[in-house]
Amino acid sequence: MTTDIKEKIFVTKPYLPPKEEYYAYVDKIYETGHLTNEGPLVKELEKKLADYLEVENFQYVTNGTIALQFALKAFGIEDGEIITTPFSYVATASSILWERCTPVFVDIEPDNFTIDVTKIEAAITEKTKAIMPVHVFGYACDVEGIQKIADKYNLKVIYDAAHAFGSQYKGKSLLSYGDVSTLSFHATKLFHTIEGGACIVKDKEVANKLALIKKFGHIGDEHYCLGINGKQSEFHAAMGLANFVHIPEILAKRKEIIELYDEQLNKYVVRPHAQKDLIYNYAYYPVLFKSENELLKVFENLNKHGIYPRRYFYPSLNTLSYLKNQQFCPISENISSRITCLPLFVDLNVEEVYFISKEIKEAL
Ligand SMILES: *Cc1c(COP(=O)(O)O)cnc(C)c1O
Repeated sequence: MTTDIKEKIFVTKPYLPPKEEYYAYVDKIYETGHLTNEGPLVKELEKKLADYLEVENFQYVTNGTIALQFALKAFGIEDGEIITTPFSYVATASSILWERCTPVFVDIEPDNFTIDVTKIEAAITEKTKAIMPVHVFGYACDVEGIQKIADKYNLKVIYDAAHAFGSQYKGKSLLSYGDVSTLSFHATKLFHTIEGGACIVKDKEVANKLALIKKFGHIGDEHYCLGINGKQSEFHAAMGLANFVHIPEILAKRKEIIELYDEQLNKYVVRPHAQKDLIYNYAYYPVLFKSENELLKVFENLNKHGIYPRRYFYPSLNTLSYLKNQQFCPISENISSRITCLPLFVDLNVEEVYFISKEIKEAL
């Protein structure tokens, strides 16, 4: 191949802001000598993100996994069953298990890969405490249907919204639905602070509890509850603030890449159907092949040319080997076996998108 690309391409590449912009915030840290424990940069970032996302009770924490665990902790959920989706990153299920609860997997919608709301009620037992759905790839769950069921059975709704940064549903942030929405600001995500995450909490009192839990459960010498260390540092906030001003440009670039892929590939792969009331955040570019065989053929050809997509998400979480009882989720298992996310990041250029698309078509 003469048109081969120069560098290896992975599914994602962290966005890096101009060095001087990051250093300007680091200079401030050196001036104040304040490194962590809710310093000025953490507060500034929390305020800016809450305003940008138009949400209240925004708690910045160390990562998106602990954010899920904090949500369970803040509601006092220490055992019982949590209804969740098998089609997600492993952290959704592992956070439930780590909190000594049992994940109960409900199968997904074949159209947009979110939890199938019509199957939730059948999974509810007297042990059910909460529903933890995922706005997977930034697509909206049936938030109204889920809330209706939660109200009927008095269950908490904790959205793993790690992919939903900036998605809007029915004119407001997708993060404003449910009792808590959690975010991840990991380096590979749409908006990042190297490592980081957040809880967006509907109830002010629960938000206060969460704020306490993340700093050891005490204020001064007064100890209120069991806590842990989930605070974020000023250096992480500095990266977040440096990235923050580039969000419009990050979104615009991703949108452009997605439109190019669409144009090149629409006849060759199946794409999820976004809800009509959703303003999408361009977080991922999932494509569905006809079979696992077809996917493997495409992978083989792409890898040969230095392109490494990831099998997002594979395997279906209901098949994890360390689960006590395996559950059957045929739709999720089927989709997991033949889906991938194509490279999508700001540095990806037009030629590379054409090249990746061409090699996919060739393999098919
Ligand atoms: C990334 C991710 C997480 C975990 O976030 P971290 O910040 O890496 O801990 C949780 N759930 C989903 C769906 C994710 O993609």
